[in-house]
Amino acid sequence: MPDPENPNSTTSFLGDTPLARQLAKLTARRKRLERVVLEFGAPTRIITISNQKGGVGKTTTTVNLAAAIADAGGRVLVVDLDPQGNASTALGIEHAADTLSVYDVLTDETPLADIIEVSPESRRLLCAPSTIHLAGAEIELVSQVAREHRLKRALDAYLEAAPEHVDFVLIDCPPSLGLLTINAFAAAAELLIPIQCEYYALEGLSQLMGSVQMIQKHLNPGLRLSTILLTMFDGRTRLAQQVAEEVRQHFPREVLQTVIPRSVRVSEAPSFGQTVLAYDGQSAGAVAYREMAVELVRRGAPGQAEQTTQERTH
Ligand code: ADP
Ligand code: MG
Repeated sequence: MPDPENPNSTTSFLGDTPLARQLAKLTARRKRLERVVLEFGAPTRIITISNQKGGVGKTTTTVNLAAAIADAGGRVLVVDLDPQGNASTALGIEHAADTLSVYDVLTDETPLADIIEVSPESRRLLCAPSTIHLAGAEIELVSQVAREHRLKRALDAYLEAAPEHVDFVLIDCPPSLGLLTINAFAAAAELLIPIQCEYYALEGLSQLMGSVQMIQKHLNPGLRLSTILLTMFDGRTRLAQQVAEEVRQHFPREVLQTVIPRSVRVSEAPSFGQTVLAYDGQSAGAVAYREMAVELVRRGAPGQAEQTTQERTH
C-alpha cells in the first residue's frame, strides 16, 4: 500500500489515481517552498497560542511553527507555559522536576536567560522549558505582586539584552484561562487560535474572546487576535469542510489559507522528541507547517505592511 505521506518514487506505479494526484500536488508544494526566501529582522513578534480547549493542536502548532520559522532562517523562542511540558518534550529539551524552568521565572524572578535552552534541532530554536511545578504556579501567583505581568517583565528584560535578535516568541498555553494564560495574554501582541476541524469547533470561542476583551481593557490594550489556524483537517469528511467554512465565515481576515491536515507523522514526532520537520520533513504535515510559517511571516504583525512576495527565480 503506497504511503500518501511519503511522496517519493511511488507516483509512476499509481498512474492517474487520486493518490497519484495528491502526491504530485505535494511535490509541487515542496518545490514552491524551496524557492521561498523570507526576510527577518523586523521587531520581535510575540504570539500566544491559546484556546482553553485541550487537544486542539496548540502545542503541535507552537513547536512545528517554531521549527519551520527557524528552518527558514528566523530565530524563535518557544515559551512552554503548560505544566505538562509537551512543547519542551517535542523540542528535545530536558524538563525533569529539578530543571530551572518558567516556574522559577514566574515565581522567583529568575531571569529568562538563565533557563533558556537551545533545541538540538536548530541553533535558532530556543525553548524556555516548563516543569510540573508550573501546575502550582496558578495558585502561588495569586498572592504575588504584579502577578499578571510576570512573564511580560521577564520577556521584556530578556529581549532587550538578548545576545542575538529574536524574531518570534511563541507562547504555548495550557488548556485553561487561569493565571498562566493571563500572563501569556499580558505579554503578547498577537493571539493565534488553533481550531480543530471537528464537532463543536467554535464552542468556547466566545468565552475566549470575552477573556481577550477583558485583557485588552485591563491589562494589555495592544493584544490582537491576529491568526486562526485550522488544524487536524481531514479533507475526506464533509464535517471538516463544513467546520472550515463556518470558521472562515466568522473570521474572514484571521483564518490562514494554510490548513494543517490530520497526519500520523505529526502525531508521532513528539514521542521521538522531535518536531515533524525533523522527524519527516517531506511529509504533508511538515509541508503544511512550513507553508503556515511563510504565510504568517509574510502577513506581518497586525498593522504592519505585508511583505512583498519574494521567490527565488532559477
Ligand atoms: P493541545 O496542545 O491543544 O492540547 P496538542 O497539540 O497536544 O493539543 O494535540 C493534541 C493531540 O492531537 C496530540 O496527540 C497530537 O499529537 C495530535 N495532533 C495534533 N495535530 C495533529 C495533526 N495535524 N494530525 C494528527 N494528530 C495531531
Ligand atoms: Mg498543549
